[in-house]
Amino acid sequence: MKAILFLLIPLLLLVTAYFIMQPSVNANSLYHIMTDSTKNLQGKSMENKVVKSEEEWKKELTPEEYRVLREKGTERAFTGKYDHFFEKGVYKCAACGNELFSSDHKYDSGCGWPAYWTALAKDKVILKEDRSFGMVRTEVLCAKCESHLGHVFDDGPEPTGQRYCINSVSLEFEKK
Ligand code: FE
Repeated sequence: MKAILFLLIPLLLLVTAYFIMQPSVNANSLYHIMTDSTKNLQGKSMENKVVKSEEEWKKELTPEEYRVLREKGTERAFTGKYDHFFEKGVYKCAACGNELFSSDHKYDSGCGWPAYWTALAKDKVILKEDRSFGMVRTEVLCAKCESHLGHVFDDGPEPTGQRYCINSVSLEFEKK
């Protein structure tokens, strides 16, 4: 009888230990699944972004493109290549190629820069409050590479009433 007990007790301890260990193993594997999926989600959101160092941008862009796109500069009014340009096509970001505006939404505002009453889609651009030069304006940035494009104002034509005032140098036209 004693011999059986000596065998049974360690066996019971082993079985108990096994069941105690189970939840922690499950919790661990769950933790790994969660962190892996978080990594994937982050990876996916980063895939749509173009992230480069300022050194890289400097190498890729002309000095004027760099000044406007990366340092939030403004080209001189009435000098941009798309100010009085009305061919049919799509305007892409000059830094990353993201399609931003359509000739269908372009109009002659007379302001000295290309003007559009809407972007191609809401998620193509980022709008950000800009309080530089003692004014409150809304800056327009490329959603993909966060380069500066221009500003948006509330004095545009119908149907939106908006005027996306964009630097030509920030854009690259593609005929369609
Ligand atoms: Fe871009």
